[in-house]
Amino acid sequence: MAETLTTVRAPLELREACNLARKSGKIAFVPTMGALHEGHLSLVRAARTRADFVVASIFVNPTQFGPNEDFARYPRDIAGDTKKLASAGANLLFAPDASVMYPAGEETRVRVGALGEHLCGPFRPGHFEGVATIVAKLFGLVGESVAIFGRKDYQQLKILQRIAVDLFMPVEVVGMPIVREADGLAMSSRNAYLAPADRDRARGLSLGLSHAWRAFEKGERDAEPIKNLALAEVIQVADRIDYVSLVDADSLQPITEKIGARALLAIACHVGKTRLIDNVVLGEDPDPRASMDARGAEG
Ligand code: AMP
Repeated sequence: MAETLTTVRAPLELREACNLARKSGKIAFVPTMGALHEGHLSLVRAARTRADFVVASIFVNPTQFGPNEDFARYPRDIAGDTKKLASAGANLLFAPDASVMYPAGEETRVRVGALGEHLCGPFRPGHFEGVATIVAKLFGLVGESVAIFGRKDYQQLKILQRIAVDLFMPVEVVGMPIVREADGLAMSSRNAYLAPADRDRARGLSLGLSHAWRAFEKGERDAEPIKNLALAEVIQVADRIDYVSLVDADSLQPITEKIGARALLAIACHVGKTRLIDNVVLGEDPDPRASMDARGAEG
């Protein structure tokens, strides 16, 4: 695809470019923190099919990192990312400095409600407020658009869908499937931190989800045994488990007894020094290891 990618760094340049592009078609927006992999690029490609003009952003947002988290060492590769975005079909890259997104005197934060109470919420205090705030700023600049997010960060997706509705933003927030490595590990910029032995162990997350998925498909509807199937794998590979949780796929409130038509089974744990997350929506998503089985069948 012979597309050209323009990079802008000033918020008002982003707004002007979007206003101009909107005169001749629809805009799709893909916000990221960079260190791009196939998961991110799948969002850009999905954006291409839904709009005439694709905007991506790269911003490692300081307000969504806790004091003991990896903000300083988060991988950054703007030159490599720019090439990847161009070949995936993005038209515009917004790559601002922190000082323009959080200039002196700014103080407004977007508070998240019940959707932030469980899963990552308690383990990353302030994280979703930081995400909500930066995405609200970005949506304010991009304007009317479809915004594409990955279901890898399922809780984030649900929170952002809620915010767009609650704040009457002219943005449709859409979620796309998790892209996985050949062995089932969900792609993540943070996978680059994994030492080889940790990388091997990290397979346990998708393996646990897959065991639970199979039990659900066979008709198991009790929450405890489903959760325990995932936990049994995660316990073997994790150095610390934040949670293995089964929650309602819309309200994100815990399910303690029977699962209804669909439920989110989500994991967050530490393997070595790396915090990993993964999930599957039972009753909706395919087996997290389905593509592996397909590859195996092909030999
Ligand atoms: P990040 O750069 O990690 O903030 O992610 C930017 C966007 O890419 C978010 O919407 C993520 O959910 C999405 N994303 C990250 N990893 C994956 C993946 N493996 N598959 C699909 N989407 C992903």
